[in-house]
Amino acid sequence: MSKTDNNIHTVFNRILRRPEKEKLLNQRSKVIWLTGLSGSGKTTIAQHVEQELNKQGFLTQILDGDNIRSGINNNLGFSVEDREENIRRIAEVSKLFLNCGIICINSFISPTEDIRQIAIDIIGRENFIEVFVNAPIEVCEKRDVKGLYKRARKGEILNFTGIDSPFDAPEKPDIEVKTDVLTIEQATQKCLDYILPLIRY
Ligand code: ADP
Repeated sequence: MSKTDNNIHTVFNRILRRPEKEKLLNQRSKVIWLTGLSGSGKTTIAQHVEQELNKQGFLTQILDGDNIRSGINNNLGFSVEDREENIRRIAEVSKLFLNCGIICINSFISPTEDIRQIAIDIIGRENFIEVFVNAPIEVCEKRDVKGLYKRARKGEILNFTGIDSPFDAPEKPDIEVKTDVLTIEQATQKCLDYILPLIRY
């Protein structure tokens, strides 16, 4: 082994690993990945789940489409290539939180199986909790929280998921919350019932 390899190895050995950090934080880290149409309720549920987890003493980090796209991914658009690169970077960032023992709550449309698979391959299936936030497009469009559907229908936004860009429903999500049927509180509780046993130390 060369001197350089040796030095790198020595430094690497001093870096604390995920189990030590999980022990310090008294929690098991996971990446909770909310997928669904714009307006389906991903951000709302992510925020409610985070509030509840923090009340119960868990350390979390939310990653959200708009924040990420205005920061680390502000050079990316909505072409297939850019959507993939968007998700790849988000998954790598999530992995940093995961390895720091922190529960990462991600809300991203992530519209196709291929795109979600990129995230799963980076994060690891065993670390990944897939939540399908499901509401019919008519409901999402009626909510039109950010006025985006109206603009997409007018042709002002192209490649808009659900309008002129596909959304493939996940085949076997770990959790599905139908936000046109459940209240925000019920949807949050359904997520917590699944998540809590997996993150308790
Ligand atoms: P997304 O992040 O998926 O684009 P948002 O959370 O920003 O969606 O918007 C969803 C909207 O739908 C919010 O205004 C929220 O109050 C409303 N809403 C109504 N019922 C629900 C529900 N059961 N779960 C989540 N959001 C709901």
